[in-house]
Amino acid sequence: MDYFPIFMNIKGQPCLVVGGGEVAARKAGLLQKAGADITVVAPALCDELCGLVASGEMKHLDGRFQPRQLDDMTLVIAATDDSQVNEAVARAASERRLPVNVVDQPALCSFIMPAIIDRSPVVIAVSTGGGVPVLARLIRARLETMIPATYGELARLATDFRDKVKQRFATITARRVFWEHVLQGDVAEKVFSGNLAAGRALMEKALQDAEEDKLNQGAVYLVGGGPGNPDLLTFRALRLMQQADVVLYDALVAPEIVDLTRRDAERVYVGKQSNNHALPQDDINRLLVYYAQQGKRVLRLKGGDPFIFGRGGEEIETLVEYGIPFEVVPGITSAQGASSYAGIPLTHRDYAQCCTFVTGHRRDEAGVVDLDWPALARPEQTVVVYMGVAQLPDICQQMIAHGRAPSTPAAMVERATTARQRVVVGDLTTLPELALQQGIKAPALIVIGEVVKLHDKLDWFRPGSQAH
Ligand code: SAH
Repeated sequence: MDYFPIFMNIKGQPCLVVGGGEVAARKAGLLQKAGADITVVAPALCDELCGLVASGEMKHLDGRFQPRQLDDMTLVIAATDDSQVNEAVARAASERRLPVNVVDQPALCSFIMPAIIDRSPVVIAVSTGGGVPVLARLIRARLETMIPATYGELARLATDFRDKVKQRFATITARRVFWEHVLQGDVAEKVFSGNLAAGRALMEKALQDAEEDKLNQGAVYLVGGGPGNPDLLTFRALRLMQQADVVLYDALVAPEIVDLTRRDAERVYVGKQSNNHALPQDDINRLLVYYAQQGKRVLRLKGGDPFIFGRGGEEIETLVEYGIPFEVVPGITSAQGASSYAGIPLTHRDYAQCCTFVTGHRRDEAGVVDLDWPALARPEQTVVVYMGVAQLPDICQQMIAHGRAPSTPAAMVERATTARQRVVVGDLTTLPELALQQGIKAPALIVIGEVVKLHDKLDWFRPGSQAH
């Protein structure tokens, strides 16, 4: 470690900023956030500093820097564009053993300023030792997206309850389990969803109810993992994925996405292969209950959206029967992913005023796909068929038989949004043959309608091509 990271209390402490420009204003602004008593020394001030001085928030020493101005200071920042002045500040500060920062000149600094993620009272500071500030800023940007803006609220709520929790539990272990539970469980989730009052109420309730077994109550998160590309997960999905004790996932969830779940979570594959029904739905429902009753946070991770051909509803019904708390997190359904990544808008002013998602899985006794064909064959709409690869010829035939023009454009999108995406475009007559030739396999969607024409023009995502 080249620098020792500390958080310094400068509330009410005299701090000097040397320089009157915008950089000085930014640094003074940061010191102000931490409650410092700020003096700015400079022969001229920028508008922002003028305003702050005029409103009495900072003092101004008009003129050039003098070493004696450091005599009563706690900390000094030099932010001038005159290297001689900057050096003079650094020298005078070091003679007085005063912490000094000279902007952009690490060699003259006794402390450096990190990139900051401010979720006060939670503050995260990132430093690259002054060498690569841009990298620190990039890391900050990543952290900003990972840590909900409401983290500060959670910390404030927790601070308010600190004494109560201490009184309530005699042992440190009990307190730790309790805090782990509320900071990662329902209380935190309520706060993150913006419902502070409910978070507080749950916290009170958690404190009252806290018995060893209540502390360990589990929950199920039914989470949509999107169509396959990890970038398309929601922040909420990612957060819950990193909290779970057990993860139940199936074949549609890409390994890269399963990898984003908490490292030490137990991972249970409950996938159904088309030929071998490894785990019947009832068993999955029972497993969710089984783990949750052990006090585990169970992540039920599904491809796409859990409520679109995902049987998410059935799983939740079982949880309701057993009184197990749960949450549902939407995911981008594969039709949306395929539409965006294949450049096929699902609706269009000229071509399609509505869009229907159907499953190609349902068959009647004769083995024919059992759908409302007269409705689906009407013009000016887009039809997206899930789970329809094997039934493609049948589906195209039925559409034509019920009046949709044989020349209606149609496409198959295989493994949409991923590096292995393939798109095959034809019409209701040619698509089955084309898909067969290309060897298109599940998971793939059939998209039928005039909008498919737009693919030629709007196709932007070509995995494997040079342009991408
Ligand atoms: N809940 C999922 C759908 C589950 S049904 C969702 O919202 O997307 C499974 C079907 O979804 C597959 O047979 C296939 O038709 C479709 N599918 C899922 N992921 C896909 C992908 N990346 N590309 C194309 N189709 C996909």
